Amino acid sequence: MAPEIVAKHANPDIKTDRFSLAVVLFLLWTNNHPLEGKKGCPVCMDAEHERRIYGTNPVFIFDPDDSSNHPVQGIHKGAITRWPFLPEYLRQEFIRAFSKEVLSDPSKRIIEQEWLRLFIRMKGEIYKCPCGEVYFADPVVPNQYPACRKTQFFPVLYKNIPLQPAGPPADETLPLSY
Ligand SMILES: [Zn+2]
Repeated sequence: MAPEIVAKHANPDIKTDRFSLAVVLFLLWTNNHPLEGKKGCPVCMDAEHERRIYGTNPVFIFDPDDSSNHPVQGIHKGAITRWPFLPEYLRQEFIRAFSKEVLSDPSKRIIEQEWLRLFIRMKGEIYKCPCGEVYFADPVVPNQYPACRKTQFFPVLYKNIPLQPAGPPADETLPLSY
């Protein structure tokens, strides 16, 4: 439920749906709710506490400027384990989707097409590591393989700027050479 609904400032609409979409996507990737960090201790949760966490004062668990709701070791295992292995561009999109600015301004929510574009890119970057693991390799900001923790650097060709001498014609845009 979007913060403005929890805070009783709005009714469900397409903008609140976009918040819910971002939450579902984050849950799928990390198995953790984006607003349930150390502030969201379920034992001490009452209605007012819930209203603050999800409505009036939501803080993303990976907010780079506010550590007050960071995930807790031993409790938020999915988030802690999986977050480092998401491609940087996906992490940045979640940081934007759950930034204080976007949480408080429904008109800035990320639209469906933007998510779709990211996932199309991810599909194109599925890579099989020499150790056998298949994962999403980010050739722009190289990330580690989840299993062997090695980082693979890919030759990248930008339009008209060949970065490796023996490659396809320089007038083609070929982001990867797997
Ligand atoms: Zn590997």
